[in-house]
Amino acid sequence: MNTFNQNLIIVGSGLVGMTMALKLSKQKIQSTILEKNSLQILNKISDKRTSAISQGSSRILEEIGIWEKIKKYAQPINEIVVTEGLDENGINFNSKIMNEGPLGYIVENSILKKIVLNELKKSNLIKLIDNTKIKKISHQSGFITIYSNKGNFRSSLLIGADGRFSDIRRHANLKYFFKDYDQFALVFTIKHKKPHNEIALERFFPSGPLAILPMKSSKMRYSSVVWTIDKSEKDKVLKNKDFKSLFNNKYNNFFGEIENFTKPKMYSLNIFSCHEYFKKNIVLIGDACQAIHPIAGQGLNLGLRDAASLADSMIESKRLGLEYSDPTILSDYSQKRTIDKNLLVQATHRLNNFFSNDSLLFSKFRNLGLKIFNKSLFLKKQSMLFAMGLRNFNF
Ligand SMILES: Cc1cc2nc3c(=O)[nH]c(=O)nc-3n(C[C@H](O)[C@H](O)[C@H](O)COP(=O)(O)OP(=O)(O)OC[C@H]3O[C@@H](n4cnc5c(N)ncnc54)[C@H](O)[C@@H]3O)c2cc1C
Repeated sequence: MNTFNQNLIIVGSGLVGMTMALKLSKQKIQSTILEKNSLQILNKISDKRTSAISQGSSRILEEIGIWEKIKKYAQPINEIVVTEGLDENGINFNSKIMNEGPLGYIVENSILKKIVLNELKKSNLIKLIDNTKIKKISHQSGFITIYSNKGNFRSSLLIGADGRFSDIRRHANLKYFFKDYDQFALVFTIKHKKPHNEIALERFFPSGPLAILPMKSSKMRYSSVVWTIDKSEKDKVLKNKDFKSLFNNKYNNFFGEIENFTKPKMYSLNIFSCHEYFKKNIVLIGDACQAIHPIAGQGLNLGLRDAASLADSMIESKRLGLEYSDPTILSDYSQKRTIDKNLLVQATHRLNNFFSNDSLLFSKFRNLGLKIFNKSLFLKKQSMLFAMGLRNFNF
């Protein structure tokens, strides 16, 4: 079979892989994306989730020229209410505290993917090869070759953007931390009686958090739900004829009565977090490198920051006349991303554990913690900067 020499290979055309290719194309860097699914499936886009896009991510998308298109469909979040269960006293984050615009935006994944994919199709510097089944990967004298049903592809660098269950991570034998949370996220949309007024709600229960995220619509009466349930509750919740009232025990008509809801889609929850981000000519970005609990809606934001940071390191390598796989370039990326990744991986992991302890004493201590947090402007500002993706970790 023919071997095609490529400037750069990206495996995976998820949002992170595509953003990476688009960012490089703006600097006239060519790339080839190998995707296992067909273009037909990619065009169909059956992802019913929404994503909380941070201010930092919106700036990355702006740089590649697509934020204006996405913004039309993006619901700004101007307030986030965080409570322990149904307790009315919790933490209140308001965009007015920061003066940086909205705290973030909620965008439907299907819209996000469609806009990014359309932009990618317009570029003559990006080649997307769909239906690719990778059979083997080998390394020879500074190059990497991917053997596949679509031919053999040779390049100096392979970027693994192939998601949570990354084959590229397995091939490179990159060590990682894994934990199954024994939890599931049920994702669906509700129509509620009152407008959401740009408020997102996050309620923490011992069995897992419930997030109600405002969606864009003329009367503000649609919200996207991410309801985390414990494995032991799965059958009770899903097989229950009165799913709506079970859900309402937790939602408690926060935005008024539920008028309608879509069929829930289920995601099993786990964490993969790599201890190292590259080996030889292979480097990871996005969920392939760290796939976290959706508790704080940060996985995609983290992946977009990976893509932007690696692209910057590669643009620098081109300027210096170095190979993209030069260890100094990959170490630079790795070093710049470590703090941001570790902080978020730890924060989401611990947050989930922190709220799953249902002892009365611990609950009292937690409640006190929330009260102290809510009174501290400093703590609120720091965590908001972090969640908005506006902390600069590029030391
Ligand atoms: C319920 C839920 C809610 C979430 N909400 C949010 C949120 O509000 N905000 C947020 O920031 N994040 C959120 N996330 C996380 C976010 O969805 C992920 O972090 C993000 O989608 C990861 O993108 P990715 O491109 O790295 O990987 P993926 O989207 O998984 O894309 C990987 C791509 O690689 C392809 N691929 C896989 N294997 C191969 C192979 N062997 N060969 C070729 N191609 C391959 C796949 O087909 C796919 O196209 C949520 C996650 C869940 C589960």
